[in-house]
Amino acid sequence: MKIYKFGGASVKDAAGIRNVYEVLQQAGYEDVLLVVSAMGKTTNALEVVIKNYFEKSRQLQESLQDVKKYHIEILLDLFDNGDHDVFADVNRHFSDMEYFLSHNKSPNYNFVYDQIVSYGELVSTVILSHYMNFRNIPTSWIDVRNFIKTDSTYRDANVDWDQTQKNISKNLKKKALNITQGFLGSDENNFTTTLGREGSDYTAAIFAYCLNAESVTIWKDVPGVMNADPRYFENATLLNQISYREAIELAFYGATVIHPKTLQPLQRKEIPLYVKSFLNPLLPGTSVSKGADLDPQLPCFIVKKDQLLISLSSIDFSFIMEENISEIFALLHKFKMKVHLIQNSAISFSVCADDKFGNFPELKTILSKKFKVSYNENVSLYTIRHFDDKATKIVESGKEVLVKQVSRETIQIVTL
Ligand code: ADP
Ligand code: ASP
Ligand code: MG
Repeated sequence: MKIYKFGGASVKDAAGIRNVYEVLQQAGYEDVLLVVSAMGKTTNALEVVIKNYFEKSRQLQESLQDVKKYHIEILLDLFDNGDHDVFADVNRHFSDMEYFLSHNKSPNYNFVYDQIVSYGELVSTVILSHYMNFRNIPTSWIDVRNFIKTDSTYRDANVDWDQTQKNISKNLKKKALNITQGFLGSDENNFTTTLGREGSDYTAAIFAYCLNAESVTIWKDVPGVMNADPRYFENATLLNQISYREAIELAFYGATVIHPKTLQPLQRKEIPLYVKSFLNPLLPGTSVSKGADLDPQLPCFIVKKDQLLISLSSIDFSFIMEENISEIFALLHKFKMKVHLIQNSAISFSVCADDKFGNFPELKTILSKKFKVSYNENVSLYTIRHFDDKATKIVESGKEVLVKQVSRETIQIVTL
């Protein structure tokens, strides 16, 4: 079996859904399982709904309507017959979501988050499944929550591999082209969980692992994995082949084209991963497989924008050592700051981190009791794998370099 994953960008509008049909026609859909994300930016839009719900904002209804309207407009474009069953199916999911919001008693943000954002994937797969049937590709819609079991770490759930393997081996039937949701799972009480933002690539890898699949293809809006994100770097070049190891490194440092958790299950069973363009499905794209000899000889650039560089020095002239460092990390963890670079010297300790939840002001107050805190907001963290002088100069030119860290294969540079 082959696994195809279609992400948000590939199904962002009616033309995108029609294009999935074209991709299947061209690439083939025999013995394939489709894993599909929420359409376009639906997950972000549902995050707004959740925020409004918790803040008891008057915008709640409006934000809900926005999500519904976006999907209904796509339906009206795809199906000229307003009586088609798809309308009732989609509306039923939206009604379930509204029912949950009006009856929920849980104050647990992360729990509520997962119960709500999951409708993005539920609805997108219902639409895609109906559309394929409409175009004479018979499909069966399956609820991924009956297959992927996780713990109850809402928003970042850990897969229960044994249970998931059992469910998939025992219950996944091949009646027609199966279509299922990326990103979602369920816990032991059957509450919905999610695998972390952008986690649909990972779902594809979970199925591939459990099914000993022949390959995984993730269909993207780029020709494949390139030596840089083409949104930020001109002249990005396609990497035809890379090893799992290189792909893991690129994804770890922030090449968002592949979710970092995707690669290890595939590597374990040596299942090839293809990253291909949904606009040119017959082009080879990038193939990720075993063997360091595949690795690119050219520098690969990764950038993380809007980072925070925090530098701490001790007030009492002491050194920043194990005890302090563990305390600093406990606080960074508590305030959900994701650290991407650490630099230590005798009297100062710096971290470059992502403050996704805007917690730095609170953290700063606590740290300031013990340390002198200086910081820069909105810095960029560049990572260059296989760097050379020319590549380093490209990144540094015209920017103020705040931190630089070099290892054998990789250089990281924080700039203002
Ligand atoms: P999906 O629709 O599956 O969610 P994403 O938007 O998450 O797809 O991933 C595709 C995007 O990844 C591209 O549009 C591109 O801007 C970005 N990207 C980041 N790094 C790279 C890279 N090294 N090569 C190709 N694309 C990259
Ligand atoms: N819809 C989810 C997200 O946007 C999962 C995914 O697209 O991979 O994060
Ligand atoms: Mg995505």
